Amino acid sequence: MLNIVLFGPPGSGKGTQSEKMIDKYGLIHLSTGDILREAISERTPLGIKAKEYMEKGELVPDEDVINMVVKRLDREKNPNGFIFDGFPRTCGQARFLRTLLTERDTRISVMIALQVNRDELIRRLLKRGQQTGRSDDELSVIMNRIEVYERDTAPVIDFYRNMRKYRPVDGLGSIEEIFDRIVGVIGELK
Ligand code: ADP
Repeated sequence: MLNIVLFGPPGSGKGTQSEKMIDKYGLIHLSTGDILREAISERTPLGIKAKEYMEKGELVPDEDVINMVVKRLDREKNPNGFIFDGFPRTCGQARFLRTLLTERDTRISVMIALQVNRDELIRRLLKRGQQTGRSDDELSVIMNRIEVYERDTAPVIDFYRNMRKYRPVDGLGSIEEIFDRIVGVIGELK
C-alpha cells in the first residue's frame, strides 16, 4: 500500500495536488477538511460542533477528528492506499495514525511537505476566499490559521523526520511543475 501524508500550511496546494495524485496512483483521498465541511453542510452533531472551531481558524479537537478518520478508513475494503490531506495536524493525531495503521498491518510510506512562504499563502487564500466565498478565507481567520499551523501543526514534521519519511517539496511554480516534483519523490520510494 502507498500511504502518503500530504502536508503543508493552509493554502499550500494540498487539495489541488491530491486530485492529480488520485488520478495517477489510484489512491483514496482522505481530506479531514472536506469531511468536516460535508458534516457542516449536513448539519450533523459533528458538523455543528466543528463549525465553531473552523470559523475561527482553530483546530477541531483531536478526538472528533480521530473518530472521523477511523470511520473513513474502515469504509474501504481493498484500498491501494490513501492520501492523508490535512491530517495529521497535531502530534497526537500523528501518533494515533501510526497505531491505527499498524493495527491494519500497514504504515505511512512518506510525508510530502509542500513549502510555500507566508506572503504567497496569504495571497492564495485571499484569492480563494474571493472566488469561492469560503468563510475561513478571510484575512483575520487566515492569519490565525497560519499561526495555529506554526504552533500546533509544524511540529508534526519532526515526527516523520525521525522516521526518515519527511520529504520537503517546493510548492511554488505551476501546478504541473509541483506535481512533477511530487511524482519524483514517489518514484524514489523503495
Ligand atoms: P486548509 O489546509 O486550507 O486550512 P482544510 O480544509 O484542510 O484547509 O482545513 C480547514 C479547517 O478544518 C481547519 O482550519 C480546521 O479548523 C479544520 N480541520 C481540518 N483538518 C483538521 C484536523 N486534522 N484536525 C483538526 N482540525 C482540522
